[in-house]
Amino acid sequence: MTAELKSDQGPEEYAAPSTIEEAARLMADGDALILAGGTDLKLQTGEGRIPYKKRLVNIRRIADLRGVTMDSGELRIGALTTMTDILKDELLGDMAPILAEAANHFASSQIRNVATIGGNICNASPAGDSLPALLVLDGEVELTCFDSGALTNRRVPLKDFFTGPGKTVKRAEELLSAVCFAVPEQRARARFLKSGPRPALEISVVSAALSALRDGNEVFHVRLAFGAVGPVPLRAMATEALLEGKTLTPQLIEEAVETLMGEISPIDDVRATAWYRGHLASVYLRRLLSDDC
Ligand SMILES: Cc1cc2nc3c(=O)[nH]c(=O)nc-3n(C[C@H](O)[C@H](O)[C@H](O)COP(=O)(O)OP(=O)(O)OC[C@H]3O[C@@H](n4cnc5c(N)ncnc54)[C@H](O)[C@@H]3O)c2cc1C
Repeated sequence: MTAELKSDQGPEEYAAPSTIEEAARLMADGDALILAGGTDLKLQTGEGRIPYKKRLVNIRRIADLRGVTMDSGELRIGALTTMTDILKDELLGDMAPILAEAANHFASSQIRNVATIGGNICNASPAGDSLPALLVLDGEVELTCFDSGALTNRRVPLKDFFTGPGKTVKRAEELLSAVCFAVPEQRARARFLKSGPRPALEISVVSAALSALRDGNEVFHVRLAFGAVGPVPLRAMATEALLEGKTLTPQLIEEAVETLMGEISPIDDVRATAWYRGHLASVYLRRLLSDDC
C-alpha cells in the first residue's frame, strides 16, 4: 500500500509494504524513513530532532522480519521481533537467556509489546538495553538493500556498527533485516545489569553485560560490554584481553577496573554525572566478575 500525503510537514508519501523486497525497493533512493514500533521515531520526528524524509515506510506488515530461528549453529532474530517476543521466546530462553534478562529491564509491557530489536539497534542510543547483551553474544547485523535489480545482504559485526550517538554505518538505502549470532556454548555464563531505582521503565544510567566460560576461577572467551558510558555502546576489549585465560583474584579484578576506566568516556547529563557513571561501571564490573554472577 502506498499513499500520497498532503502536508507541508512530515513525509510526502506513506507506504506499508508486506515483503522485504518491496520495502528495499521503496528505500532504494535513500529518501525513506523506516517506521517499526515507532516508540523512538514518533518522539524524535515529533520534536523535530530528526527530519522526515520524502517517504515513510511502515515495515510492520512484513511477517518475514519477525521471529527467532536457528540454523547451522546460528540464531537469527528478525528485526521486527519485539521485546515481548524476546522475553517469551523458548529458543532464546534456552540458548541466550541474557537477551530475556535485558528485555525484562526494558521499559513497560506496553512499550515492550511494540518496541522492536531492529529499532533498538538502529536508534543507536548508547543506552539501548539490548545492545550490551547483543555485543557480548558477538552479534552481527544483517543489512539488506535493493541493488542492481536484486536484493543484496551484507553483515556487519555489531561492535563495528555504531559510530556515534544515533549514528551507524548503515546506509540510507539499507534495511536492517536481522541480528544473528552463533549459538553460545552451553557452558558460557552471561549476565546483564542495568542501573536505576526501578527494574524497568528507566533509561539506563549505566548498563553492563559479561559473557565468559569459567573453569574454576579461570575465565575464557571473555566478552564485556557497557552502555551509557561513552558515545556508543562499547565492547571493553582491553579489559577483556587483560582477563582472558586468567584466574580471577581480587588484584586482577582491581586491575580490570583500572583498565576499564581507561576505556570508557562517560559524560554528565540530566540522568547522572560522569563521575557517578564511572563509579557505577566499576561496581558492575566487580559484581559481574564475582562468584555469584
Ligand atoms: C516510554 C519509553 C520507554 C523506553 N524505555 C526504553 C528502555 O528501557 N530501554 C531501551 O533500550 N529503550 C527504551 N525506549 C526506546 C525505544 O522503545 C527502543 O529504542 C525501541 O527498541 C525502538 O524500537 P521501535 O521498533 O519502536 O523503533 P522505531 O521508533 O520504529 O525506530 C527507531 C529508529 O530506527 C529506525 N529503524 C527501525 N527499524 C529499522 C530497520 N529494521 N531497519 C532500518 N531502520 C530501522 C527508524 O527509522 C528510527 O530511526 C523507550 C521509549 C519510550 C517511549
